[in-house]
Amino acid sequence: MLEASDLQVRYGPVVALDNVSVKMDGGEIVAIVGANGVGKTTLMRTLAGLLQPVAGTITFAGRDVTRLGSHHLIRQGITLVPEGRHLFADLTVDENLRLGAFHWRRKAHRGEIDSELAKVYALFPDLLRRKTQLAGTLSGGQQQMVAVGRGLMSRPTCLLLDEPSLGLAPLVIRQIFRTLVSLRDTSGLSIILVEQDAEAALRIADRGYVMQRARVVLSGTGAELRANKLTREIYFGGL
Ligand code: ATP
Repeated sequence: MLEASDLQVRYGPVVALDNVSVKMDGGEIVAIVGANGVGKTTLMRTLAGLLQPVAGTITFAGRDVTRLGSHHLIRQGITLVPEGRHLFADLTVDENLRLGAFHWRRKAHRGEIDSELAKVYALFPDLLRRKTQLAGTLSGGQQQMVAVGRGLMSRPTCLLLDEPSLGLAPLVIRQIFRTLVSLRDTSGLSIILVEQDAEAALRIADRGYVMQRARVVLSGTGAELRANKLTREIYFGGL
């Protein structure tokens, strides 16, 4: 469904992605794991059309989308939930969520946005109780739920999630990851998940890629990667 081949991305002289190839089939969760600074965010921003590769191609649903740019890609169904959430702190939960529908709201039928919102609130009942609360006053976990909810409001077929667990307590991380699994299982959403918390991400992933220094060094099913000696040495302290 989404396939990136031999991507190379540079920041001036810095090679941030070096011949990176990843793919995601429909309805699967793909985890991209790796330490700080290996290029995970760069990969997500490139897949979302926010960065242009100097070499390589990206195809989505059989179309070459390498140079389409983020405004077009979001209309094709690729949505990025960025690292750090980037909510509008002075807007309410409801207002932040509605912003996710910005690119289709003009063509929306009456009630269509409200019905999309209702789906997000059904997924995150905690947000329904707080719909009039300012986003800046929410806990980190609630803010991440708003960020995911806002992403869903754009009606993606492929959701790119950059470090959703950052700064959150293990219990909250589990809750968010459970929601991702249920989105895959009930609506067939495809998800690419970038995580430093490799164990948590590979546990829910159908497949995954391990990155080291701008390259993909390993790939396999979530279970294979969790059991792999190299992954364990690098990320789980050799346990
Ligand atoms: P993190 O977990 O911190 O988000 P990451 O794996 O997502 O790390 P990237 O943010 O993609 O890594 O960064 C990859 C490399 O590119 C790093 O060496 C980083 O210092 C460098 N880099 C990132 N953004 C820029 C930039 N705007 N200009 C120059 N170098 C950059």
